[in-house]
Amino acid sequence: MNRKYVYLFSEGNASMNHLLGRKGANLAEMFSLGLPVPPGFTITTDACRRYYKEGKKIHPKVEKQIDDALIYLEKVTGKEFSHPKNPLLVSVRSGSSVSMPGMMDTILNLGLNDKTVQGLAEQTENPRFALDSYRRFIQMFSDVVLGIDLYLFEQELDQLKEKEKIKRDSELTADHLTDLIRQYKKIVRQEVKDEFPQDPKVQLILAIGAVFDSWNNQRSMIYRKIHNLPDDLGTAVTVQMMVFGNLGDSSGTGVAFSRNPLSGENQLFGEYLVNAQGEDVVAGTRTPESLCILKESSPKAYDKLTEVAKTLENHYRDVQDIEFTIENGRLFLLQTRVAKRSAVAGIKFAVDMVNEGLISKKEALMRIDPSNLSTLLHQTIDPEVKADVLATGLPASPGAATGIIIFDPEEAERMLWTGQDVILVRSETSADDIHGMVASVGILTSRGGMTSHAAVVARDLGKPCIVGCDEITINLSQKELYIQGKTLREGDLITICGSSGKVFLGSVPLVPPQLTPECHTLLSWANEVKKLAVLGSVNTPEEAKTAKLFGAEGVGLCRTEHMFMDPARVPIVREMILAQNKWERKKALDKLIPMQKKDFLGIFQAMEGCTVTIRLIDPPLHEFLPNAETLTMEIERAKMAKNYQEMEEKEELLKKVKGLHELNPAFGHRGCRIGITYPEIYDMQTRAIAEAALELKKEGIIVYPEIIVPLVSHINELKTVREQVEEVLSHVFLEYGDRIDIPIGTFIELPRACMTSHQIVEYSDFYTFGGNDLTQATFGFSRDDAEGKYLAYYLDYKILPENPFVVLDQEGVGELIRTAIEKGRARKPQLKIGACGEHSSEKKSVLFFQNIGVNFISCRPYRIPIARLAAAQAALAAAEKD
Ligand code: ADP
Ligand code: MG
Ligand code: MG
Repeated sequence: MNRKYVYLFSEGNASMNHLLGRKGANLAEMFSLGLPVPPGFTITTDACRRYYKEGKKIHPKVEKQIDDALIYLEKVTGKEFSHPKNPLLVSVRSGSSVSMPGMMDTILNLGLNDKTVQGLAEQTENPRFALDSYRRFIQMFSDVVLGIDLYLFEQELDQLKEKEKIKRDSELTADHLTDLIRQYKKIVRQEVKDEFPQDPKVQLILAIGAVFDSWNNQRSMIYRKIHNLPDDLGTAVTVQMMVFGNLGDSSGTGVAFSRNPLSGENQLFGEYLVNAQGEDVVAGTRTPESLCILKESSPKAYDKLTEVAKTLENHYRDVQDIEFTIENGRLFLLQTRVAKRSAVAGIKFAVDMVNEGLISKKEALMRIDPSNLSTLLHQTIDPEVKADVLATGLPASPGAATGIIIFDPEEAERMLWTGQDVILVRSETSADDIHGMVASVGILTSRGGMTSHAAVVARDLGKPCIVGCDEITINLSQKELYIQGKTLREGDLITICGSSGKVFLGSVPLVPPQLTPECHTLLSWANEVKKLAVLGSVNTPEEAKTAKLFGAEGVGLCRTEHMFMDPARVPIVREMILAQNKWERKKALDKLIPMQKKDFLGIFQAMEGCTVTIRLIDPPLHEFLPNAETLTMEIERAKMAKNYQEMEEKEELLKKVKGLHELNPAFGHRGCRIGITYPEIYDMQTRAIAEAALELKKEGIIVYPEIIVPLVSHINELKTVREQVEEVLSHVFLEYGDRIDIPIGTFIELPRACMTSHQIVEYSDFYTFGGNDLTQATFGFSRDDAEGKYLAYYLDYKILPENPFVVLDQEGVGELIRTAIEKGRARKPQLKIGACGEHSSEKKSVLFFQNIGVNFISCRPYRIPIARLAAAQAALAAAEKD
């Protein structure tokens, strides 16, 4: 059977994106809807894969089908390739089944040559236009197909403009352009030792090959890597009749969004360039104006565009990003796709569309990627603070960020390792700058509009971005920028606010994020369906309040060691660690207990009516001591200053530090091992918890505290600690003449605990899985070392599919968890089970937890909205399966 490699627009539809690419499939869909799309056809991704298989050759069978489609195109357009009076011109466009905006190449005006350019000039009675199109075509074709450096053409153009004292391209006359074309052809001759191809058919085949090739250009490959996309899909190629936005003032080109992709407002939004051709808008080389210009110059076309945008939105049931061209007042659609959007807008779209009856609540919940919510939880500039505004540009992607100015994307990437936050400052960005944008906390460009590359990519990445900030002049060679008569250098600190477009000097106080009303609505829908309880992992009363605000149903993990790290308390904590005997240690602990109690009181008050699970101290004690090198230096200094008392004290301290030194702290003297060897510490903590809860109870404030014992590997550890904790509790209850129920559970974070869960469960009222440590112990990875050294390599070379500290390793770590749950529930069917750490707000891991019977997940306050949505999606996914 003859395989079909070429589809006319009338033969395709939106569901065929694997074969036709998204662009081709949607063009076919729009064509079938009867919308004004210039006719054309699409060569499949299959043909592209075949092209690569055959050593980058277009197979004759494929070429034959292209010829047939061309004949069809000539027929429906009434134009002909090479026709001296009525030439057919086409664009050759790339498009794969995954979204890779602007990564691959497109060629416009193909079909022009020395003869057809005359025909086009006569036909349009506009020689200037025809010549300008030809010049653009030679330049684009030479760049994309012949691989000639664009710079050579630009240089030629600049020289001509200088010679003729011309500022703007639009001032070039037909004579100038004729000269320029002659020079351009000369460049081609010099560079490829051949004439610029004149036969449109030859041009077409070469262009198609070049678009196939662009699937594997460097920036496409980088983009796929960043977005974790497969490399073997290939691109489709769409060949489409040209329409012209550069025919004069009643023509133009633009991009429209059926709703505002930034704020989410339900109003047509977009940008338009009068008398321009495609690339001019997207490249950000000319800053386009709002759609109002179109409304004024061609009101009919504007109305039609509004209508078409609604039609497309209703048809696709999602907000559309539409590329269009106006040719002499007539609207043509060149592309539609689901619009990229800010997180705020995405949520507003979803909630509004439910209210409009366009989609269901379930669809709304499934549409938002939970991890996207984190970008919504952006910091903003503190409105109370009055800071001097250096410059204002277009607010292209919301949120605020402070960082040092870096001009070069490579440098921005290098700065990643220093931990210094970077704002990438460029005149405009292109696909080649992506790595630098990923490495920066914010992006500022002096040119480009709201749909420029920088704006689109920043919104996608969820990074604050300002574009078109033309008050800034950048001097790349000096690594300087000038604003308002000021000179700023690379490394200078600035703050940008992508929500208002304002640039500030230095750092400006930022305030924590707030949820929009739509986000609250969406999350309330999430609560209606989710099965997992979502709790907060908090260390302080402040964090407890934030967690509550974001919808935490209690505290799943309170790490008490953070209470020990308060600078005011560190001396007492050290006293406790350095104590020579039990009695001395108790003296220090007596000073600590009111402090711990105060923290618990604060957290309990914030969490009235909820469960608060408190973990007894976990990290190795040396974490609270100064490090040995600093101490040694200080001893030297004290000795030189003849300060012998200080010297002796510090030497004593150093001895203790050395004594506590561990080769492998992750597996060191920590967790319940501390509680067993220094029982006074756990006693103090237990007492503080019980006293705080009982005192609040007296005031009528009820909480449900729980105590959790960390790092248990053997049942006897838990047994020992449990007995000890129970004894302290009974003492406190006796003293207060009152009691409350305080369940005692285990933090399951070692493989041995999982495997002996049938024993552990006898002494445990509940389990919480510590994903981070369990992953470390299971892989034998120390996380800090792994992420700093080999893990990146492992991910690059796909030795591991994902970072197991971010996405739970279901086959290994997950299997241990499953085993622990099974063995535990076999003895105690009602055993409460939780999971905490980063995994508990990662959607795949959350689904896994839900499916193996976990009851609650606990995460950091700002991740709670993410966890709530992920839990809702997990519940919906499970319901779908049933
Ligand atoms: P990209 O994937 O980079 O957006 P496109 O294939 O969409 O590349 O082409 C970029 C721009 O070129 C389009 O937005 C459109 O303005 C212009 N263009 C493409 N094809 C045509 C055409 N047939 N007629 C007029 N302009 C076109
Ligand atoms: Mg496009
Ligand atoms: Mg741990």
